Amino acid sequence: MIPSVDSLLKTPQVQGWLQVYQRRLVVGAITDVLDARRGNILQGGTPEISAECLLSDAEGRLNALVSCQLRPVINATGIVIHTNLGRAPLGLTVLNNVVAVSEGYSNLEYNLQTGARGKRYVHVHQHLKELTNAEDSMVVNNNAAAVFLSLCALAKGKEVIVSRGELVEIGGSFRVPEIMSQSGCILREVGTTNKTHLADYEGALTQETALILKVHKSNFKVTGFTNEVEIDALSALARRRGVGLMYDLGSGCLVDLKPLGVHTEPSVAEIIKKDVDIVTFSGDKLLGGPQCGIIVGRTGYVERLRQHPLSRAVRIDKLTLAALEATLVQYLGTPEAITRNIPVLSMLFQDLGWIRNRADMIASGLMDIEAEVEVASEVSQVGGGALPGLELPTCVVKVRPLSMTVQQLQSRLYKANPPVVGRIKDSHLLLDARTIKDSEVNAVINSLKRRG
Ligand SMILES: *Cc1c(COP(=O)(O)O)cnc(C)c1O
Repeated sequence: MIPSVDSLLKTPQVQGWLQVYQRRLVVGAITDVLDARRGNILQGGTPEISAECLLSDAEGRLNALVSCQLRPVINATGIVIHTNLGRAPLGLTVLNNVVAVSEGYSNLEYNLQTGARGKRYVHVHQHLKELTNAEDSMVVNNNAAAVFLSLCALAKGKEVIVSRGELVEIGGSFRVPEIMSQSGCILREVGTTNKTHLADYEGALTQETALILKVHKSNFKVTGFTNEVEIDALSALARRRGVGLMYDLGSGCLVDLKPLGVHTEPSVAEIIKKDVDIVTFSGDKLLGGPQCGIIVGRTGYVERLRQHPLSRAVRIDKLTLAALEATLVQYLGTPEAITRNIPVLSMLFQDLGWIRNRADMIASGLMDIEAEVEVASEVSQVGGGALPGLELPTCVVKVRPLSMTVQQLQSRLYKANPPVVGRIKDSHLLLDARTIKDSEVNAVINSLKRRG
C-alpha cells in the first residue's frame, strides 16, 4: 500500500520541487523515505504511509541536503575568542568591504599606477607599517603557516634555538618541535621547563645557528620559581653574534590592554621596537580580524619569505585580505572607536552593567518556562589561546530545567535555529551574556521556550 515513487513524482508538490532541484536529488529523497518505511514495516512496524506524510518527510530530507551545514550559532559560552565557534566575529564595515571587493573584480595583483602586475601584499603594507613600525610585512593564511614559512625560508638545515619553557602546543596539531622538524630545521633546546637564562642561549650559539626563536606563552602560564629571557636581552645577543631573531607572538595585539588588567601581552609595535627580525601573529585572535597570519619585520628577512616557493602554497586569498585591510583601518581610529568597532575588543572591554542588562532581558523572557532561572555573577574567559588565566567578571543566566536534564536542554538548544551553545556547570546551563549580541536576545529566549 506504500505509494510508488512514480505516483509521488506526479503530485503538484513534487513537480514544484523539480522546478528548483535536480531530479536525482528529488528522486533520492523520496526513495530514501520509502525505503525507511519499508524497513520499518518489515520489522513489524505500522508507520504512517499517506502521500502527505511521505512528502513532508522527503521535503525535510531535501531541505537538509540543500542547506548549508556551516552556519551561524549563538555563542553563550562567554569565551570571546572561541576557536571551535570560529574565533573572531567580524563587524559590518569589515564584511561590507569583503562584499565590495569580491562581488566583482579588484586590483588584487594589479598596479593601478603603472598598469603592470602588482603584489597582493602591498594593500596592507602601509597600514601595518603605521600600526607596528615594522619595515616590511607579508600576510599568509594563518599564523601556523607564518611560522612554518619563516622557519623554512630562514633556517632550513640550520639550527634554531628555543627555550624548553616555550616548546608549546597550540591545540590541533601545532606543536613547536614538530613544526620545526617539518620545516627541516634542527631544534636546539636550551634551559629548563621553568628557567632559561641568557647564558643558555649564548652557550648554544654555533656556526650552525640560523635563528633564535622566542614563542609567546599564549595559552598557559608558568608561575613560581621561573625565569625567561626578555626580548631586549635576546635582541642584543642576536645582534652581537650576527644571527636572526624571530618571535612567534601568537595573538598579536595592536592596542594597549593594560586598562583590562593585562600586562602580559606586549603590542606588536613594542616588540618591533626591540629590533626583532621577524614577528608572526594571528589575524583572528586578539586582533579581531579574519583568520590569517601576519608577518612583520626587516625587509631582508621578509623578502626571503616572499621569494620562497612555499609562499604561494600559504598565500592569503582576496576575501581574507579585504577583511584584514578593513580591520586594520579600524585600528587607525581613536582608542574608543577601536574598542567600539572591533567586536572582539568591544566584547572584552564591555561594561558589566550592559552585560547585566542583557542577562536580565533574557531572564525576564524566560518567566514561564519549566526551569529555575536566575541571573548570577560569573567569570568569562578570553579563549582561543589568548590571555590565559585572565578572568573577566560577567553576568550569566543560570537555567536549571525541571522536566529534563541539563544535558537534554543543551542538546535541544543545539538543534535550535540558530543553535545556542552555552556551558554546563553543576546541573545548570549557563548562558553568558558577554558574548550574546543584543540582536540575539530574542532568539535565545525563543529557543529556550520552544517545546519538544
Ligand atoms: C595561536 C598560535 C599559533 C597558531 O596560530 P593560528 O592562527 O591558529 O594558525 C602559533 N603560535 C602561537 C604562539 C599561537 O598562540
